[in-house]
Amino acid sequence: MVIQLYNTLTRKKEVFKPIKKGNVGIYSCGPTVYWYQHIGNLRAYLFSDILKRVLLYNGLKVNQIINVTDVGHLTSDSDDGDDKMELAVRKEGRTAKQIAKFYFDEFVNYFVKLNILPPSKWVWATEHIKEQISLIEKLEKKGFTYKTKDGIYFDSSKFKNYGKLALLNFEGLKSGKRIAIADKKNKTDFALWKFSSESGKRQQEWDSPWGVGFPGWHIECSAMSIKYLGEHFDIHTGGEDHVPIHHTNEVAQSEAATGKKFVNYWLHGAFLLDSDGKKISKSTGGLYTVSELDDLGYNPLFYRYLSLQTHYRKQLNFSLESLDASKNAYDKIKRRVVELRKDNHSGNTDVGEHKLRFLEAINDDLNMPRALEVFWDVLDETDMDTRIRLSLLEDFDRVLGLRIKDMKEEKVNVPRDVKDLLAARQEARKKKMFAEADILRQRIKERGFVIEDSESGPRLRKI
Ligand code: AMP
Ligand code: ZN
Repeated sequence: MVIQLYNTLTRKKEVFKPIKKGNVGIYSCGPTVYWYQHIGNLRAYLFSDILKRVLLYNGLKVNQIINVTDVGHLTSDSDDGDDKMELAVRKEGRTAKQIAKFYFDEFVNYFVKLNILPPSKWVWATEHIKEQISLIEKLEKKGFTYKTKDGIYFDSSKFKNYGKLALLNFEGLKSGKRIAIADKKNKTDFALWKFSSESGKRQQEWDSPWGVGFPGWHIECSAMSIKYLGEHFDIHTGGEDHVPIHHTNEVAQSEAATGKKFVNYWLHGAFLLDSDGKKISKSTGGLYTVSELDDLGYNPLFYRYLSLQTHYRKQLNFSLESLDASKNAYDKIKRRVVELRKDNHSGNTDVGEHKLRFLEAINDDLNMPRALEVFWDVLDETDMDTRIRLSLLEDFDRVLGLRIKDMKEEKVNVPRDVKDLLAARQEARKKKMFAEADILRQRIKERGFVIEDSESGPRLRKI
């Protein structure tokens, strides 16, 4: 069956045809590792995970690259502001390497908790300075660059069709708008290499043919995707915020350098928004992190389920109420699966229609809400043979990633002192002593358990 994907480049759903039969190359823009990634960031990776799982389910081989931005991403997506990594160095008093490693490890932890498949390779910007320099040299030779007092810039007026991805109107941008950086020639020009303002002040800087400095953010993604996937590859993903600047610039500099079409299918995930603009996380100041949800007693897979309920191209408002609803749905699935494992009655063994409907849904631009409907239909299909039903649900879970195979009856041995702590917490909550209750929850966590509230009262789950 054909797979249809919505291509930002054409603003249409298109039949997906890999360049090399049976193989798919995907580049997904990755995290900037100066700080915790929040559940909004993780929505972008849940989306690329679903994409990858759908391709694998269809029998394709997938080579996915995700980059780690550990230099060059400025506080503004254009060329103003400070390098986020250097700001973190000043704030945290640790080295850039230590900071990058810390937040990357944390990020990988979120992947595990959300059951996101790891990429074939993580690629780090600071480990590919040579490749970035040589791509800039190529652009320089072809006459696409110019020098200003603060760096080497890409001249967007020299690239025909600049902005085709974002449907930007270059002439419109040029005239009538203020040019952001004093000696840039066009507003849409962007830095390929930035000079260190005072040599030795930055922690991360390198020698280059143009002087000591560091690469711009966009060039890393072109240099590394070309290195690992080739000058022309299948799919590039990112968040919707990448369309007007980051990906627009990737297209321009890659195609200018190689003279070839860069990517066939551009896919973008819509944003997760907090419910009403409230700051709801201690660590990010915005959206929660996966670990914070875990600490509140929410299994990260509830969030995975939540994200499956909305199509990836639709913005999603996050609230703990909606997460509670996902938790109820997830718990229900788990109870039913556990019952199914115990049950052993024979019945209808024909899975054809369900399987077809599931495949139609996932291949229709990754329509997970529809795929979930089929999943629930099978869960409710009492005429079906229980063994077959279970194996069909497990088969669907290759895409959904809800860890159906791990859903087993849990016998948790809770030590006496943890039970006492739980009872004390319940008592504190009853008396509305919430600060006290929080401290007790934390102590329970230190003993290796999280509290999950269920219909029959609070339950303890091993971390
Ligand atoms: P960054 O670390 O800022 O480079 O962002 C990592 C990824 O998260 C990028 O793909 C962004 O497009 C994506 N992203 C950032 N904020 C959100 C959000 N609120 N919802 C969904 N994706 C987001
Ligand atoms: Zn990127």
